Amino acid sequence: MIIAVANQKGGVGKTTTTINLATALAAAGRTVLVVDSDPQGNASTGFGVDRRSRNASTYEVLLGQIAAEQALRPTAIPGLEVMPSTPALSGAEIELVDLDRRSHRLGDALATLPPHDIILIDCPPSLGLLTVNALAAADAVLVPLQCEFFALEGLSQLLGTIERVRSGLNTRLQLLGIVLTMVDRRNRLTEHVSDDVRAVMGDKVFTTTIPRNVRLSEAPSHGLPALLYDSRCAGSEAYVALARELLARIQPAPAEVIA
Ligand code: ATP
Ligand code: MG
Repeated sequence: MIIAVANQKGGVGKTTTTINLATALAAAGRTVLVVDSDPQGNASTGFGVDRRSRNASTYEVLLGQIAAEQALRPTAIPGLEVMPSTPALSGAEIELVDLDRRSHRLGDALATLPPHDIILIDCPPSLGLLTVNALAAADAVLVPLQCEFFALEGLSQLLGTIERVRSGLNTRLQLLGIVLTMVDRRNRLTEHVSDDVRAVMGDKVFTTTIPRNVRLSEAPSHGLPALLYDSRCAGSEAYVALARELLARIQPAPAEVIA
């Protein structure tokens, strides 16, 4: 299953969610690939992929210069690979415009890979061609949402884009769910926005929320997912719970057999 982690708003927790959810899914025994589709390369850095060794990256894959498999790197986590990105990827938004199947380049490339149970695509903070490629490749979208004043407006714009991609490029595309990030229970605005989002989006919002937790923001500077940096911190525990909830959502438990 291919899941795009998308929100055009910057700094809402897309990359933190991608890294730690991927790690929790791999720890649960799934084979996982993280595709870094953001020129900032934060997901690659968060997995400790050395910048100098990113010569085979999402950029060359999208432009058709190398096969997708050539860009895969192992990580410190068994069962978890990453396709890194470089700043060159920012040029792809323009360079892709003139290419064949410009919105399907990523999906076409991922289809050539040996199977992974779950592929997570970390999208950049825009609704340009990189995000459109991710949405066209994906079975589902996971939306990290930070509970702040304009959150719902940003969300409706994103839902509009998902709808357009579904009708024009990819009829499989589903909204997997919305995960509330950087939740601070003492903050009244957080509570208020979170209530609004749940009122509008109902059970599309994951029960699990991700707390604001400094360990989550420290971990990338060590090149490690928080789950390896400090597996007992509240942030790591929340991502383990999110992985469990997500797995239940994508593969409902088989009906109990009554003897
Ligand atoms: P961009 O749009 O720039 O790609 P993003 O949506 O991927 O950003 P992140 O990079 O995951 O967002 O998070 C933005 C910042 O907030 C980072 O410094 C990150 O370490 C920090 N952060 C993310 N989630 C949390 C959290 N739950 N608690 C504390 N800090 C967090
Ligand atoms: Mg990011």
